[in-house]
Order: sequence, then structure tokens, then C-alpha cells
Amino acid sequence: MQRQSELEMMDAYFDANATTPLSQAASEAWIAASRQHWHNPSSLYPQAIEAKGFLEELRESLARMLDCPFGRIVFTGGATEANNGVLRHAAGHLKEYGGVFVTSAIEHPSVAEGAEFFLRAEQLQQIGVTPEGVFDQDVFSTVVQSGQAGFVSLMAANNETGVWQPWQEVARICREERIPFHCDASQWIGKESLEGLASCDFVTASAHKFGGPPGVGFLLIPEGSGFQGSVGGPQERGHRGGTENLPAIAAMVAALQDCRSSVNGEFRDQFESDLVACLPAVRLLGAGARRLGNTSMFVLPEHKNLRWLTRLGKRGFAVSTGSACSAGKGNPSRVMQAMGCGFEEMGRVLRISSLPDAGAEDWEGLLDALLEVRDELGSGAGNSSAGIPKISLADL
Ligand code: PMP
Repeated sequence: MQRQSELEMMDAYFDANATTPLSQAASEAWIAASRQHWHNPSSLYPQAIEAKGFLEELRESLARMLDCPFGRIVFTGGATEANNGVLRHAAGHLKEYGGVFVTSAIEHPSVAEGAEFFLRAEQLQQIGVTPEGVFDQDVFSTVVQSGQAGFVSLMAANNETGVWQPWQEVARICREERIPFHCDASQWIGKESLEGLASCDFVTASAHKFGGPPGVGFLLIPEGSGFQGSVGGPQERGHRGGTENLPAIAAMVAALQDCRSSVNGEFRDQFESDLVACLPAVRLLGAGARRLGNTSMFVLPEHKNLRWLTRLGKRGFAVSTGSACSAGKGNPSRVMQAMGCGFEEMGRVLRISSLPDAGAEDWEGLLDALLEVRDELGSGAGNSSAGIPKISLADL
């Protein structure tokens, strides 16, 4: 991905699973589309018809990349909207055909909380993960064999740990058993190959995770589906009402065309082995499983994560605490909980996620900064206390 901004800070940007900067290709596509095709694609004069034609060209380009019929693509306002729509659709499906909604314990809140919102507790079956953070396929097989599964949702890769989930295998089983299958591929698309995604009935993508703008994404739906993400407009063939954000859609398609097929994990692996050599008490999460090559999540030996994060920030390094204690809220991470981590450890976790073009020197710079912060924080004082971490700005 070529970067639009030359901000020095970008070299130290390690929060790419949260969002990515707009790529050069996406930025150019956005400007061109907003100059040439700002008309409403639903109107009927020539410029609007051209805008509509452009929208459909973009849909076809995306369909070619995904190797699926263009009619399966619904442009959305991002992954949260798409996942909420799938949950609402699943609720309707279960009402008609029965069965339970089967999902993992490590889904993004837009799936996990969407399920709690749209379904009754007895309609929901959450399957746990191994200590490495991988969906438990044995339990899944048992649930499928029992004939209870009415709709299944599994993410492609986890946003916190980067751990790959067995979505291809789950998609295959669901196809055989004729169970609708949804895959939230928000963290996968742009980092890994698109091959096989079209074999899932529903697939969620979010543009700002791969160099596109925020607030736009796409959802694959089955052909002929009665899916209705939002009502009140005929757009997207009735699947999602609302005027299409054509410049953002153009930028998203350009960004995806510009992505490499896979992110090499070699620099991340070197970073982790150097980190463990320097700080032997660091505990890597999910490192034994296949992971996105840009992601590393680890529990630091001491001090609250926000103390590390603010000191790294002062040195220009943008990292994340994952969802644990994000923005000082002190919410325990569901992902870490599912992986068997204690509450106290959740207050010491950092998530590192690089941009695709981060090189050895970027990762080395991060390691040096972490070691500087360790020296600054010292040992002993300010250690995390037991229990659910409660962070206030005064602690930092
Ligand atoms: N699903 C996953 C796996 C994600 O990582 C995210 C973003 N953190 C979302 C859904 C929500 O994406 P959006 O910002 O497009 O709503």
C-alpha cells in the first residue's frame, strides 16, 4: 500500500487493525469520483445515469476480484452495519426455520452484541477457542451433528490476536449441511488472499482496514436472498436503502486492487523473538497458531498497559491495548477471557498491528522504544494490582 501522508508518525504506526491511512490509489479514486460522479445514481438525467453506470462498474470490478456474481455484492456503510444486518437477517431466518445461531466467543462486538440484541438467549450458542485463540472445531462438529445449528457466523481472523480461524472448513461443513454461513472477514480482506471467500453465504468487509476510507464496506449475500440491511430506499436492489457513497466505494475498490495478497510475518516473528529475548517474562498470545503477519499481541511482565502505551505514544509509536481497557474503560477483553487469560493480565496487554509495508527497521524501532520505556518505568513500582483493572488518567 502506497501511503498518502508523509507524516513521520506513520513509520511508527502499529495500530493498523484499528484503521489504516487512505492509500494513494484510494485517495486519487475518491477525488476523481467526487468530481465526476457526485450525482445521485438513483436520479434519471444523463449524469446520474453515468454515476449509476460507474457504480455498477465498481461492483463488477469487485466481483471479479472476489470471483463471485456481481449481484451478490451489497455496498454498506462499514462492517458494523453489515454485521448488524446479518444478525437481523439471521433472527428472521431462525424464526422461520428454527435452530440456534452458532458463533465463536471471540467475535467483534458488532456480531457478539448484535446476536444478543436480535436473538433470545436460548437461540444463541457461543463456541469457545483453544488457549491459542482458535475456534474449537470439535465442539462445532458436535453442535452440527446434533442438528441444532440454524445459522453460523465465524470471523476469518481475529482483530486482537490476528489468529486465523478455520472459516474455510466451517464454510465447507455449512455448505454440506445447508446451514447459512456468515464470515466477518474485516481483518482478512486486504491482508490475505480473497480466494474461497465467495464460498461463504455472507462475507463482511470494511474498507478502512485496507487503505480505503472509513464508513464504507461491502457485504456478500447469497443470490436471490431477501436480505435487507436497511429499509426505506430502493438502492442496492432493495438490500440496503440510502444514497450510495460513490466516491468512498470507488476509493474502496481502488484500495483493494492495490493490496498485496499476503502480509509477510517475518519481521513480526523476528520482533517477537527479540522481545522475548530481552523481556523473557513477556507472554505472546496466539503465537503457536497461524496469524496475520502484521499482528502481535502480548502480555507485558509488569506495569499497566496504558503506562506503556502513553510512553510509546510520546516517542511517536502508535500501539493499542486491543479491546482490553480501551480508552480507559476497563472493559475486560472477551477475546483474552476466551483464551483463558486472567483479569489482571488483561491490564498488561498490548496489541501491535503494522501496516503492510512496515519493514525490519520499523519493527526494530518499536523494540528499541519498548526497551526504553521498560527502563523508564523501572521494575516493581506501579505494577498492576489484582482484579479487574481500573484505569484513570492519574495512573498514567
Ligand atoms: N469486525 C471486525 C473483525 C473488526 O475488526 C472491525 C473493526 N475493528 C469491525 C468488524 C467493525 O468495522 P467498521 O469500523 O467498518 O464498522
